[in-house]
Amino acid sequence: MADPFNQQRTATMIKRLLIGTLALCGSTALAQPAPLPMPRHSQDAPAAVDPALAALRDKALHDDSAYDLVSALTTEVGPRPDGSEAEGRARAWAVARLQAMGFANVHIEPYDVPTWQRGHESAAVISPYPQSLQVAGLGNSAPTPPGGLTLPVAWFASFNDLLLAPPGSLTDKIAFVSNAMQPTQDGSSYGSEGRARFMGPGEAARRGAAAIVIRSIGTDHSRAPHTGVTDFPAGVSPIPAAALSVVDAENLERMVRSGKPVILHLELDDHAIGLRPSGNVIAEVPGTDPAAGVIVIGGHLDSWDLGTGAIDDGAGLAITTAAAHLLQQTGPHRRTIRVVWFGDEEAGGFGGIAYARAHGHEPHALAAESDLGADRVWRFGTALPQGSEALVARLSAALEPLGVVHGGRLVDGGTDVEPMLALGTGGIDLNQSALRYFDWHHTAEDVLDRIDRDALRQNVAAWTAMLAIIADAPENLLPPARSVQDHDRP
Ligand code: ZN
Ligand code: ZN
Repeated sequence: MADPFNQQRTATMIKRLLIGTLALCGSTALAQPAPLPMPRHSQDAPAAVDPALAALRDKALHDDSAYDLVSALTTEVGPRPDGSEAEGRARAWAVARLQAMGFANVHIEPYDVPTWQRGHESAAVISPYPQSLQVAGLGNSAPTPPGGLTLPVAWFASFNDLLLAPPGSLTDKIAFVSNAMQPTQDGSSYGSEGRARFMGPGEAARRGAAAIVIRSIGTDHSRAPHTGVTDFPAGVSPIPAAALSVVDAENLERMVRSGKPVILHLELDDHAIGLRPSGNVIAEVPGTDPAAGVIVIGGHLDSWDLGTGAIDDGAGLAITTAAAHLLQQTGPHRRTIRVVWFGDEEAGGFGGIAYARAHGHEPHALAAESDLGADRVWRFGTALPQGSEALVARLSAALEPLGVVHGGRLVDGGTDVEPMLALGTGGIDLNQSALRYFDWHHTAEDVLDRIDRDALRQNVAAWTAMLAIIADAPENLLPPARSVQDHDRP
């Protein structure tokens, strides 16, 4: 899903774009958020589902091409860390696979990405109760000195408690932040509890900490730590930063609560290694009306190194690509469908930024991505031009038989498409249930076996129905009255 930290990274650009919009409109009233619409059942006019569309949607419910794709990717490529040799292999693999599926204009659009590399990592309690702990460094972590650090633990039950610690109070200590994440269907607890990972290391460094360990940002109770990127703001030198598994963090917390001083040993041989090649892989189903705007869909090709990147985000690639492939077989359609396998999402959303830089000037009708695993879609959100009520009603009618209801406005477009949404491009979320996603997210458990075939097919059916409706919609879906070329090209 869209990582709030990654969203922060693109925030500067997005802010500039939004300020530009307000200035163009000349009204501060637009700064007020619009009221949320009423639940759809009280608003939607009834819309009949085209029998051909229903047949295509239901065909997708029996289509295993998404599972075959994510199975092949995780088997034949495996983990695909940003900027790594494996990510390069993944791009070459992707080009061959997408060409074999018959897509047009398959190519790579390269850029460089700041790369971080994991080495040997270990953690152990020295006192009061010596034992080893399961740990994983966070992306952008600094290395510990050779031989590691052995220091007292300063415990914080929450990220907020860490913020209350005065400057200098953590000198010669290892900060330990232990807030727990509860599962939520919409994944919103990742944004709130995840601050310990996104910003905790930077805040601990500001207060003089020698290192930081956090309780994994995950909803499981296993010994598999959850990695993920962290941010050190400008002017703050990176410190060693790692996540303990939930079970190990609870063990450490019991020791701290006992009142006895806790000494921790931490070794992280992790390094930032500078810029390395990354790239977006692009494939198209050409449309018949270029002026109607491109539909850009996809997910991210990079993954963390601990698992094989099946649910994050091999599933997203597979779902969107399988849906586009079904549309290809029923075409031609009015609008071009462009499938993008964004090269970098995990390190900072550089793939989405590179796409907007290269293509933001082209007319786009829609930008949408799948990046919350492989569980069933339960809700959809929309950010479409005014006058799209009939279109939304057609989407509702086609998606309701899959158990997908309209939740109103789009709430989370996804890191990879945020830069396009910031340019005014319309968006649609097909929200997957996140109740189980954060059990395995960014862990060694992110593997093919965590994907349920039925749920994956339901995703493909929802994406196929949505794409079929948008691809041939007679409505004008281009952003209203804003000239991307003149004002907002990043
Ligand atoms: Zn991720
Ligand atoms: Zn992801």
